[in-house]
Amino acid sequence: MAEERRYSLAIIGGGVTGAALAYVASRYTDIGSIVVIEKNAWVAQVNSHPMNNAQTSHDGGTETNYDLAHALKVKAAAVMLRRYVESKKDPLLFKKTHRMVLGVGAYEVEKLRKRFEDFKSSYPDLRLIGAEELKTLEPMLMKDRSLDEPVAALVSSEGYAVNYQRLAECLISDAMTINKNLELSFNTGVESIRHEHAQYMIETTKGNVRADMVVFAAGPYSLFFAQQLGYGKRFAILPVAGSFYSGGELVRGKVYRVQVEGRPFAEIHGDPDVLNSRDTRFGPTTKPLPLMERHKYETFFDFLKLPLVSLRGIASLFKIIRQNKLVGYVAKNMVYDLPLIGKFFFLKEVRVIIPSMRYSDLKLRRGAGGIRPQIVDLPTGTLQMGDATIVGDNIIFNTTPSPGASICLGNAKRDAAELIKFGEGKYSFDVAAFEKDLG
Ligand SMILES: Cc1cc2nc3c(=O)[nH]c(=O)nc-3n(C[C@H](O)[C@H](O)[C@H](O)COP(=O)(O)OP(=O)(O)OC[C@H]3O[C@@H](n4cnc5c(N)ncnc54)[C@H](O)[C@@H]3O)c2cc1C
Repeated sequence: MAEERRYSLAIIGGGVTGAALAYVASRYTDIGSIVVIEKNAWVAQVNSHPMNNAQTSHDGGTETNYDLAHALKVKAAAVMLRRYVESKKDPLLFKKTHRMVLGVGAYEVEKLRKRFEDFKSSYPDLRLIGAEELKTLEPMLMKDRSLDEPVAALVSSEGYAVNYQRLAECLISDAMTINKNLELSFNTGVESIRHEHAQYMIETTKGNVRADMVVFAAGPYSLFFAQQLGYGKRFAILPVAGSFYSGGELVRGKVYRVQVEGRPFAEIHGDPDVLNSRDTRFGPTTKPLPLMERHKYETFFDFLKLPLVSLRGIASLFKIIRQNKLVGYVAKNMVYDLPLIGKFFFLKEVRVIIPSMRYSDLKLRRGAGGIRPQIVDLPTGTLQMGDATIVGDNIIFNTTPSPGASICLGNAKRDAAELIKFGEGKYSFDVAAFEKDLG
């Protein structure tokens, strides 16, 4: 890409979000000339990489922090993802297991019983099971557990562990097969963007690109560039890192925990690694970290340019910590990554899931775990859960904390529809074909 190139659509970021849009735009629209610009040498090396996320296809049924209305929205996008991955017949792409949320103690058991009543007609895959069945399904959950302790689990037969990096590869490969005008530009970092003559001029490390329409799928960098163009000034990013521990061969499916009321982050869970089903991962932890990308210390300087580093940003941060009663929680999570002592405290959390877990069997996965770019709304000083999308003049910015990977095809469908509106009659979107294949 030495000289200036021109495209109808530029997608910035080759994670699972950008790859899903490249696929949907290539397969179901006639936009044609598309470039995906990615600063790394290959797709999905950041949050979509299986070492960095929890590999779960969330659908809302077992996520006790989602109410029914929110859960059903996530489910619609989860169905698209599952239909796509099932169609690939690729053993490296996903593994189907069970997924459950475990309730420990009378309060949590009652909460699951009530959720089951509210959700069962919308989620026919859910079952409420007690100690006896748990012993057969996941024996290690019951080994050494006190018989006096009430336990129950809401189990879904639709447990998908997805390698989202592999998914990005499949989506890009399919898109390339369908669309001969799709170009990939790896090792190409976007440095700046400006709007001129009804087009976008994107300055990259490999020269300039002009595009009629642009979609940022660049994680926290989406907001970074949005603000360069004057969009999304009311938002800041709170980067929340998540680490994982390894525990050996312990569980067969995904075991989540009941969410603590009012806490915006999920409790740690245990699940077999999609890359090695004989290793159970525990996590992710929840640690604010002033970086745009995990383990990339140079991204600290970009973090400083975002408005969390301002009086208003810091005031919002304190308000969020105070209102959500997060002081003890954040402090505890900061400790988990420390040598020796971190493992000791983390073990206490793991033992709620696996009571017989030993200190010596837990190992911190060094270098693993990504960063969830949580959105802070500065005027209200609140933390926005879920993803954030800003739609501007022929441009879209997606910032995608969890469960961004689960809903990547849903987001791609929404963005493709928006691109068609930008085109004002120039392009079309075959929604019927999309629905037939994935809906
Ligand atoms: C600990 C943890 C656990 C999670 N667990 C789950 C889960 O179980 N299920 C789930 O659905 N979601 C989960 N998520 C969230 C999920 O990982 C993300 O929502 C998803 O991977 C986001 O995909 P993306 O393509 O938007 O971002 P990314 O995968 O981060 O991709 C962004 C891409 O943009 C590129 N980029 C950035 N800046 C530039 C630039 N200037 N120029 C060019 N390219 C650029 C990056 O190199 C990168 O490739 C988890 C996240 C974390 C951190």
